[in-house]
Amino acid sequence: MTAYVVCRQCGSRIPLAVRLRSQAPIIFSATCPVCGFRGKYSYVDIVEEGVYRAKCAVCNVRLYSFRLGYAKCPICGSRYLVTLGEWRLLERGEPPPSPAQTLATVGMFVGGIAGASRGRDAPEKIAGIVAGAIAGLILGGLLGALLETLTRAEREVVYE
Ligand SMILES: [Zn+2]
Ligand SMILES: [Zn+2]
Repeated sequence: MTAYVVCRQCGSRIPLAVRLRSQAPIIFSATCPVCGFRGKYSYVDIVEEGVYRAKCAVCNVRLYSFRLGYAKCPICGSRYLVTLGEWRLLERGEPPPSPAQTLATVGMFVGGIAGASRGRDAPEKIAGIVAGAIAGLILGGLLGALLETLTRAEREVVYE
């Protein structure tokens, strides 16, 4: 149960130290244990074995498992029966709040405070709070979008 590339010279399997394509560098060199040919490969050349993937039905995180059987989503705790086809959802977990939403709220709060210290009199202060809140909202939203992109990476399930 490993990931491998196929030797360009003799067609033998060259086992890799990684188990997933996503763990490998984009370009890497590997030496064939059979014919000794050293070639450059990219992560798209990697063949994965014994990896099962699905998307969590509750929190939408992409999951992978190295085993068939019972497993849990590491994010929301939903329980699954990992099969060769679709994973069977046995128990729904609690989905976490969307990071984009949470961060937009934090950004609005921080932005509002920063804006308040800028104006001299009350109307200016209020304008500052509003402008700060909007700027904060945009910043928070962007940060959230970025975080969401990062969290879109695959996660290994928790085995039971
Ligand atoms: Zn070879
Ligand atoms: Zn989940």
